[in-house]
Formats: sequence, structure tokens, C-alpha cells
Amino acid sequence: MRSIFSDPCPLDGSKLVCTCGYYARPSKPDIEWGYCPRCDAAFQLWNEPAVGKQTMFTWKRKGNNLTLVDEDQARAQEFRKFGWEKEQARMLDCVRWFLKERFGKRQCCPNDGGDIPLVAEFPYQPGNTVRFYRCVYCGLWLWAYLMDKDYGWQCVASFSWDKKKAQFLLRESFAKTADLDLIKERAASLSNANFGPHTLLERVRRWFG
Ligand SMILES: [Zn+2]
Ligand SMILES: [Zn+2]
Repeated sequence: MRSIFSDPCPLDGSKLVCTCGYYARPSKPDIEWGYCPRCDAAFQLWNEPAVGKQTMFTWKRKGNNLTLVDEDQARAQEFRKFGWEKEQARMLDCVRWFLKERFGKRQCCPNDGGDIPLVAEFPYQPGNTVRFYRCVYCGLWLWAYLMDKDYGWQCVASFSWDKKKAQFLLRESFAKTADLDLIKERAASLSNANFGPHTLLERVRRWFG
């Protein structure tokens, strides 16, 4: 069985974004969708598990709009009774939001989805910077982001504060091609003191300490 969530872009094997799914809707097929920013193409997979049928739809850019490809138009007819138009609109909204936000300053914590503030930005490679975000809810972690021309700002590593060394040290890295040594050096130049109390415990201690 194909899946939008575990399989890459059917056209070029890139990672899909805007992935979303609706399941177990009474008397309607399950639906999954995703978008490939490299191909500028969107995909919907309609699953009818009872009959073991999967139907894939592809949208490609025509002028300003993502448009269902001609060869899928006829197949869409049989799904119109299941709210096909509404699901198409919902998916295209997700893609529009992604394209609008991908180069923006706003990021969500990879751990809990909360808004995280940008705390520092340093030179990285020529014409590019590395950004550090900190989540007040996770407390001690620092997230490093690099710009990808298709995917926008992508989280590439996390750091945690090492009390003994009084430095941010790498916890985990998510990108194989990033210059981690340079990012580690940038993170190590940040001081925990610059950020003030971040965990709830730290705040309470300051209030009552
Ligand atoms: Zn692709
Ligand atoms: Zn968090």
C-alpha cells in the first residue's frame, strides 16, 4: 500500500511537506495529501481499504495555480460525491500557507508545536545564515535552522545547555549535509545567561529565590 506519510514525492523522490490525512470518515474513503516544493506539485491519495483500492491525484503548477493534471480529471468525477472539491480546497490552502510562510521568521517548536522566538542569527555559508530558536516550554533546548531554497527554514540540529562546560552542546542533528562543526561553533558562542530564565523551574526559583 502506498502512503503519503512514509513515501517520498512520486516524481523525484524528495521529501513531502504539508502532509495531512483524514481517516475513518463514515462511508467516505480515507484521504492523505502532501506537497513537493522541488516539483511544485501536490498529491492526494484516496484509500478505500474495504476494497483495497488506492487512487492517486496529482496537481502541477499552471500559471499561478496548482491545477489537477488533465489525465486525473476524469477519475476525480467518481469522488465528487465524497466532498472531493472541499478536500482539494483544503489541501491548496495548506500549500499556499506553506509557500507564504517558508521563508518567514516564525517557527514552531519541533517538540511541542508552540511558537518559538528567534534568539540569534549568525553568518553560515556565503549568502546564508544559521538561526537559533529557543522554546520556553521545552526549556533548555536550542534549535538551529538553515535556509533551503525550496523548503524554507529547516531545523537541522538541537543543542542543550551543559552546566559544567557552560556551553550549548549538540544533542541531535537532523541534516546530513549541514556544516555541523560551524553550527556547533556558533552555538557554543551563545551564552545561556543572554536568554534569562527559560524553564518554569528557573522562573519560579528567580521569583522566590
Ligand atoms: Zn518532487
Ligand atoms: Zn518546545
